[in-house]
Parts: sequence; C-alpha cells; structure tokens
Amino acid sequence: MEKLKQRIVEQGVVVSDQVLKLDALLNHQVDPQLTMEMGREFAARFRDAGVTRVVTVESSGIAIAFATAYELGVPLLFARRKKTLLAEPDMLCERVPSFTKGIVTDILISRELISPDDRVLFIDDIIANGDAARGLVKIIERSGAELVGAGIVVEKCFQPGAKALREQGIRLESLVRIASLEGGQVIFADA
Ligand code: 5GP
Repeated sequence: MEKLKQRIVEQGVVVSDQVLKLDALLNHQVDPQLTMEMGREFAARFRDAGVTRVVTVESSGIAIAFATAYELGVPLLFARRKKTLLAEPDMLCERVPSFTKGIVTDILISRELISPDDRVLFIDDIIANGDAARGLVKIIERSGAELVGAGIVVEKCFQPGAKALREQGIRLESLVRIASLEGGQVIFADA
C-alpha cells in the first residue's frame, strides 16, 4: 500500500534497529480514512475466504480489525489482555510476552463468542517475533474454529514472526513489509 508507506516515512519514528514507533497512525492516534482504506484492502484480499469473524488483540489491532470486519459484514472479536489470571473456565487463554512492554500478559477470548463453525480472520497492527499471533492462533485452534488467514498492517521481515507463521501453513498478508530499520532508516522490502 503506497499511501501507507508514505505515511510511515512521514510519521514513523525509528527508535532502534528493532523498533519503529507508529503512534501517529497505529498505536496512539488513528486516522479514520486511512484505517478504513486498510480495512477495505484486507477485506478485498480475504473476500472469498468465507470469513465469519474477525479476531484481534486489544488494543492497537482494534481499529483496523473493526474496519476489516465492517467491510466484510461480520463481527469483530478482540482478545482481552490481563496481567494476572484468575481461574476463568469460560475463557480460552494463552500467556504471551509483549514485544514492546517487556512483560508477559494473558490474552483471553470467551468460549461463548467463538465456535467450531467460525472461519476466523486474524488482524493485527505489527508483527515482530510473532508471539501475540502465535498465542491467538493457539486460542483459535482450541476453540475448534478455522483460521483462514492473518492480515497484518506492518510486517518487520527481519524478525522471525511472519516467516514462522507462513511456515506453519498460515496465509499471512501484510500491507507493508519492512526489510530494515538500521541507521535510523526505514527500508521497505519491496520498494
Ligand atoms: P510480536 O508478538 O510479533 O513480537 O509483537 C507484536 C506486537 O508488539 C504488535 O501487536 C505491536 O503492538 C508490538 N510491536 C512489535 N514491534 C513493534 C514496533 O516496532 N513498533 C511498535 N510500535 N509496536 C511493535
């Protein structure tokens, strides 16, 4: 998505060789027009997959997942994050390390809101090591639902998450692929 690349160049801040701050368009502020365009793009790519539910993890994935779910005409379900796990038998839960916060959180989805009849599209903002995605994939598997694919706004190709998911046989579509952040420069993979 050329427009998104341009916005990343204009508004992204390279924090280190590993981390790109995208507060102005993904992680703190949302541009509704751009977000709806991203949703339309994901919806177009997965239109024929028979999606019945879009799933994301709170909080940064919610806006894009909403836009995608709106375009596909299906509900958006977002996994909740919690720091401690009380016994919650009605919830499907996985423990995942957080890339940016350096802590471990539990992500939870209610068993009542996902069923073996569902065809799930996972949407998220950024993929790095893939821990959040892996946790969600496990929850979807345990629910009995079918994962039809993953739509990720920014794929950092120099970290292992996206490759690992594709090697698992998951169809992963990203809107922008970043090859490197070295020297404070955003280098796109397919520029
Ligand atoms: P992963 O679990 O794939 O290692 O990391 C995914 C989550 O960490 C994303 O949902 C995103 O919120 C956050 N994250 C990973 N890398 C970056 C980054 O370079 N910049 C920002 N702003 N968030 C990131």
